[in-house]
Amino acid sequence: MAAPKPAAKKPAAKEKKLGKGIWTVYKVEGDKIVRKNKSCPKCGTGFVMAAHKDRVQCGQCNYTEFQTKATAEKKAA
Ligand SMILES: [Zn+2]
Repeated sequence: MAAPKPAAKKPAAKEKKLGKGIWTVYKVEGDKIVRKNKSCPKCGTGFVMAAHKDRVQCGQCNYTEFQTKATAEKKAA
């Protein structure tokens, strides 16, 4: 008599990654919803700019705003 086959292990359920999506650019503060990133000046509200370490970029029209020290100083002056 052959030994019964061991039951096949079920593959562990994959964890869903919630890294991308429009919900990642909003933050709840109390009972308000706050937008983390600014919206695109060309496309208008609803088109949120992607924040990079030195720039913000629109995924729709590729509009890019560089955030250098020089621009930061200009805004302050
Ligand atoms: Zn845009």
